[in-house]
Amino acid sequence: MSVNTYDELRAHIGHKIECVCYGADGEDPDNIALECVDCSEVLVSYDQDEEESTVEPYSEKALEDSYGYWEEHPRFPREDWRYEVSNNETGCSYWAHVEGCIESQMDDLRGIDDKDLPKALEEYEDWCDEVKAEYKKRLANLKKED
Ligand SMILES: [Zn+2]
Repeated sequence: MSVNTYDELRAHIGHKIECVCYGADGEDPDNIALECVDCSEVLVSYDQDEEESTVEPYSEKALEDSYGYWEEHPRFPREDWRYEVSNNETGCSYWAHVEGCIESQMDDLRGIDDKDLPKALEEYEDWCDEVKAEYKKRLANLKKED
């Protein structure tokens, strides 16, 4: 329930109003609301935009966080990246390079028809774990639809 009109808000004149939030500790709240304590009623309520909470799991930033800035991705060694840098084939940072590699494998995955999906791993066995995880998710959804 929320307040949209003059009369609806008028009913709460003189009441105790509190601004409260909901969500996990230590994170931006999922929802923030103005509530009337006297009536136990929510007057105004906003949810956080979804965008922020759905950072791509294989973005440069997410990769740095999950593997560690100075570490390397098991499938895309720093050596390959250094080689490309020394040949002026890339100017980006290591983890941006990894993001690009994963993105290109994700493209391969997106390009595969549903009917070819069950056998796709035979052809794309060099996929990294991130792409294989997406692959398994897609395969599981496919089986659910059947
Ligand atoms: Zn009230």
